[in-house]
Amino acid sequence: MAHTLSTFAYLAASVLFILALRGLSHPETSRKGNTFGMVGMGIAVLATVLQPGMSFSGIALIIAGLLIGGGIGTYVAQKIEMTSLPQLVAAFHSLVGMAAVAVAAAAFYAPESFGILDAQGHIKAGSLVEMSLGLAIGAITFSGSVIAFLKLDGRMSGAPITFKGQHLLNAALGLLLLVLVVSFVASGNPLLFWLIALLSFGLGFLLIIPIGGADMPVVVSMLNSYSGWAAAGIGFTVGNLLLIVTGALVGASGAILSYIMCKGMNRSIINVLLGGFGSESGSASAGGGGGDRPPVKAGSPEDAAYMMKNAQKIIIVPGYGMAVAQAQQVLREMGDLLKKEGAEVSYAIHPVAGRMPGHMNVLLAEANVPYEEVHELEEINPEFADADVAFVIGANDVTNPAAKTDKSSPIYGMPILDVERAKTVFFIKRGMSSGYAGVDNELFFRPNTMMLFGDAKKVTQEIVQALQR
Ligand code: NAP
Repeated sequence: MAHTLSTFAYLAASVLFILALRGLSHPETSRKGNTFGMVGMGIAVLATVLQPGMSFSGIALIIAGLLIGGGIGTYVAQKIEMTSLPQLVAAFHSLVGMAAVAVAAAAFYAPESFGILDAQGHIKAGSLVEMSLGLAIGAITFSGSVIAFLKLDGRMSGAPITFKGQHLLNAALGLLLLVLVVSFVASGNPLLFWLIALLSFGLGFLLIIPIGGADMPVVVSMLNSYSGWAAAGIGFTVGNLLLIVTGALVGASGAILSYIMCKGMNRSIINVLLGGFGSESGSASAGGGGGDRPPVKAGSPEDAAYMMKNAQKIIIVPGYGMAVAQAQQVLREMGDLLKKEGAEVSYAIHPVAGRMPGHMNVLLAEANVPYEEVHELEEINPEFADADVAFVIGANDVTNPAAKTDKSSPIYGMPILDVERAKTVFFIKRGMSSGYAGVDNELFFRPNTMMLFGDAKKVTQEIVQALQR
């Protein structure tokens, strides 16, 4: 009876996790999705704690773990800046990887508690396979995520670290890992267990160091996928259906997210994994464009307010700089004022604007921008030709026409927002620096462009004040 109940609870939790993912796919339903996820996790934890045969000390340990982990998680989540989310996610993934290593070690040293012994008292071969896979993927996820965290947090240079024969070395180490796993499954030797762990920690480190800072979000999402597969592997070891389902959901959604990001940047996942793009060395400032480029036309917030007051159709394009400046709230105020003046206002979201998928959607939703005013690239691109103003706030790469024209550009092939087609294009940014991909944007020098130099929040606040006068 108790067993049937816990199976039913696990099934209910699995369904809630699927509903959570579904809800999280759209800003409008994302809060509901989050709630589904939390309720699902609550049911899963309760069902585990109330398993038949669970001792009092076991329950006490789980509650202590929940309080410590939950307390740290709550504190960190409240303190963290929106712009630091990618590195936070990387740091959390490292913990998932380490947890997989710890569970594999626990199963190896206390197999009787996991019920994985055969009639002769040896660990079953199948369990050794699952254990070694969970161990290897967990260890790779751990060290890879630590490097991703250090690079994203600026504690380590974002530039790719490359050396001769790197890919060959990684391939050889991968092969050695396979040999170790096979020998471990055949012998169950503890030395081999720890050699697999050591080699996998090293491999995680070596796989991530050649990848440049700009590609890190894709890597974080891939590590997320790995951590899911590691959890699913451990789920097989401990015979926990829910862990298998949840791990597979995380694994598959992380892989899909990596694919979406690569598609948004028009890069292949192999190209990302082999590293190189997004190095700091490439992020030279446009510095006025160099050569014989025309001077840029700079305007004031008052100029922008005057022109927008007389505009019929305004498309706002937010980017990473809006997130840095936390300008979303005042941007919405500006949008509201312009609507009162009779203008049609919409927001254009590029799939990789900012530093993580959905970055701009989250910020705009936080500022209560109506969902129906927020449009995706394919939907909004034809609209720019009729727009009086494209208001680009802290975005750069996602508007750069070099993606369409310059085959040598690292962003060549990336779909872009066609802001250049609007009658007037405003760019709000602090200076002439390039975006994350480190390439110049020739739009800054076009006759229909007006640069509004300054912090995105401050400039938008000044525009709002001018509109209110
Ligand atoms: P971007 O090209 O990185 O440009 C952001 C611009 O914001 C910079 O040029 C910077 O110029 C400006 N800025 C920074 N702080 C500012 C502030 N406080 N006030 C005003 N402006 C500020 O950003 P994007 O157009 O959003 O493009 C995203 C880039 O990230 C793409 O290259 C994309 O491929 C990459 N990426 C995104 C994801 C994702 O999932 N979203 C994943 C991987 C890679 P100044 O310094 O002159 O102010």
